[in-house]
Amino acid sequence: MAYNIQFQVAALVLVIITAVLLLEKRAIRLYLQRDYLFLFVASSFSICFDILSVVAIMNEELIGQTLTHVICKLYLFTIALVACALSQYTYKGGKKGKQMVFWTKAARFLPLVIQVAVLILFPVSVYRSENLVYTYGVCVITTYVVCFIYLTTSFFFSLLYFKNMNRHSCYAIWFLIVAVLMAALIQMLNNEVLLVSLAMGIGMVYMYIKLENPETYIDNETHAFNNYACTEYAERMLREGKPFYVAYMKVEGIRYIKEDFGGYQEKELLWQLAAFLTGVGGSKMPVFRNGFFSFSMFCSNEEKLKETVEQIKKRFSTNWKVGKMQFKLKYRIAYLTDYKLISSAKDLIETLQYFVEYNETEKAVVEVDEEGIARKNKLMETERVLQWAVDNNAVQMYYQPIFSIQEQRITALEALVRIVDEKGQIFMPGDFIPLAEKNGMILPLGNSILKKVCEYWKSGEPQKLGVEYIEVNLSVVQCMQDTLAHGFLKIMQDMEVPPERINLEITETAAIHSEYTLLQNMRTLLRAGSSFALDDYGSGYSGLSNLLKLPLKHIKLDRELVWAYFANEKSAVALRHEIAMLHELGFSIIAEGVEDEHQYQTMKELGVEFIQGYYFSKPLPTKALAEFLENFSYEN
Ligand code: C2E
Ligand code: MG
Ligand code: MG
Repeated sequence: MAYNIQFQVAALVLVIITAVLLLEKRAIRLYLQRDYLFLFVASSFSICFDILSVVAIMNEELIGQTLTHVICKLYLFTIALVACALSQYTYKGGKKGKQMVFWTKAARFLPLVIQVAVLILFPVSVYRSENLVYTYGVCVITTYVVCFIYLTTSFFFSLLYFKNMNRHSCYAIWFLIVAVLMAALIQMLNNEVLLVSLAMGIGMVYMYIKLENPETYIDNETHAFNNYACTEYAERMLREGKPFYVAYMKVEGIRYIKEDFGGYQEKELLWQLAAFLTGVGGSKMPVFRNGFFSFSMFCSNEEKLKETVEQIKKRFSTNWKVGKMQFKLKYRIAYLTDYKLISSAKDLIETLQYFVEYNETEKAVVEVDEEGIARKNKLMETERVLQWAVDNNAVQMYYQPIFSIQEQRITALEALVRIVDEKGQIFMPGDFIPLAEKNGMILPLGNSILKKVCEYWKSGEPQKLGVEYIEVNLSVVQCMQDTLAHGFLKIMQDMEVPPERINLEITETAAIHSEYTLLQNMRTLLRAGSSFALDDYGSGYSGLSNLLKLPLKHIKLDRELVWAYFANEKSAVALRHEIAMLHELGFSIIAEGVEDEHQYQTMKELGVEFIQGYYFSKPLPTKALAEFLENFSYEN
């Protein structure tokens, strides 16, 4: 080539390849993607005008000086436009979610406006020799200055909003800035190598690969958009104040299909499900996969949303077929019709998840309303307090006395956890234990509880008060951990508490969920000296097989079962027989929820060995407990 345009041609090839890739892939037109597209189009124009300007200068005689100069000026304009687009891209990427103020918007375009004015008012000078062409003069200098301003502001924004920005985004922006600046420097030192366009082309490809590649937003398994795309999409809708209507659904039970029939069936069902959902609302309704079996769908009007929900309901009332097998799938949907109830994308996803996960009703479809959001906020607050309490060792133990009928004294305590927040508000276990089980906090919480109980034992006070052992509740999730026994034994050993002083309460649900692990844990702890009680006996699944399988010492009759004895004759007959059976099987029995003398006498007559309930005492903090036990005497 007579004139050096091979670099520009190479740049053109690069942007053409990127354009093909961009056009080929599915996109959800995210905010950043739009800005990237603008940057991309501006760069492509700039590269084309670069080539055109060289060709025009070469053929100035043919096309005339005016046209040549117009083309050269357009080229200069497009370079500044690219720099401006880059600063815009950086600014929006960093300022996520915030509207731009008018004067910031106007200020951003000021250098570009000045450059346009200079381009209109002043002529551009063109140098041309046998194998070298370039432009110079006031127009070129202004362009350099304007570009420099934009590139520096872009760099400045990327530093300022570094925390807000996607890391890859920052690196790509820096890459582009450095590449263009270096190319410009080389070009200034040696007019024969025109590298700026090539640097832009490489920068565009790099950004595409790192950031704007639509694959980044697609879930590989189902080809729906992924959770990241959902967050970006929701953020854009909220930022632009565009109304949107969302349905979030979770399909239940697929996990069991995997356990029972294998991974292939599970994958196949997932595919069918995703194909159905992505098809149900047409191409205008983006579908996102937010969790393993959770999807969300965004509509632009309420009718469409309700129609989609109806279609989903209809489809789920029929079977899903995989090979020769047919499955009925359970699902839950939460839908939002008032987007103003939501403050951010994170809030949106958390709220919808809450409505699906903690849906107190049996309904499969629930609408997100203000009341529900208040409940969700309370739960979030509890979650925060729980985390805070675990981190700050602010878990408090209350102890409820257990009365031995034979010895006519308090021989044991049940440790019951409470959380007191920064303002002194007490949270009861019913408020946070189910939550802690769901979010995994129960494991550190369980360890803190045991440590507190051991600390109390180590203080020597319980022994002085005649207490022989303390009962500690174990939740199902704790029982499912194969590290439970060793972890607990280590805590007891470190705190020098003999394991026989700790009696652990488990529930039948634990036996159902993870029998093998539970038994392993029980055996290890039993060998060390701890013993076990079955809590809440008679409250739910009372399987005889659990009683026979599990190495238990005590059975704790659930308070509902105790109360039912007094409420109806059938329950009374059943309990009498159950107590006889439990005794014959060798267990000792603790009756919970005993609130008055009559209940106490009846349980005593039935042969129950231990009594726990408000009749003797409510759960108490250690100081109150000491006072209570020091003054306690009972004979009946
Ligand atoms: P639970 O283990 O069955 O504990 C007995 C619950 O019954 C306690 O409620 C206690 O205050 C209450 N109670 C005791 N006597 C009476 C009575 O005479 N009348 C009435 N109405 N209630 C009585 P609390 O402390 O609110 O605990 C509720 C549940 O939370 C516990 O039931 C247990 O399942 C769970 N929990 C409590 N502390 C812990 C803990 O440290 N770890 C774990 N994993 N769960 C705990
Ligand atoms: Mg208990
Ligand atoms: Mg109980």
